[in-house]
Amino acid sequence: MKPTLVLVGRPNVGKSTLFNRLTRTRDALVADMPGLTRDRHYGLGRVGSRSYLVVDTGGFEPLAKDGIVAEMARQAESAIAEGDALLFLVDGRVGLTPHDKQIADTLRRSGRPVYLAVNKGEGANRDTFSAEFHELGFGTPYVISSAHGEGVRQLIDLVMERF
Ligand code: GDP
Ligand code: MG
Repeated sequence: MKPTLVLVGRPNVGKSTLFNRLTRTRDALVADMPGLTRDRHYGLGRVGSRSYLVVDTGGFEPLAKDGIVAEMARQAESAIAEGDALLFLVDGRVGLTPHDKQIADTLRRSGRPVYLAVNKGEGANRDTFSAEFHELGFGTPYVISSAHGEGVRQLIDLVMERF
């Protein structure tokens, strides 16, 4: 059975960029897999001989401003329910936001394993870049750059060790 890794985070942190980096196949190969929710964005990732399912929750980002909190919570809860591991992305350039904290609470309540990835970290000092995110309570944050691929392989290797 392939583990399912769900990408979670507020809009613009880089979920879709990471999704595209992890999945060369996009939705095509998983479109016919049974039991998958139609309106989610699925792809297949691979490390060595192993593969995993990636879910990008990006399609659920609300465009309207009203009801944003409730909508994000609903989306996150729905998506994480099918995750074997949750990759929680935050934007290290913007820094920690109230919305990140709300999502963190939702993820914590899920009881699922959470890996915190501080994105957009290309060229940054890792310790400084990730320092403020420790308070989210998910242990050491992993600094990555989805756009440049830095730290991504290491993070996925670590997640996959669990399965
Ligand atoms: P999503 O809304 O979480 O899916 O975020 P996107 O993947 O659409 O990315 C939002 C913006 O952040 C886009 O302009 C991306 O090009 C940019 N972005 C994503 N990853 C990185 C990164 O690692 N470094 C930098 N500098 N920009 C990034
Ligand atoms: Mg997106």
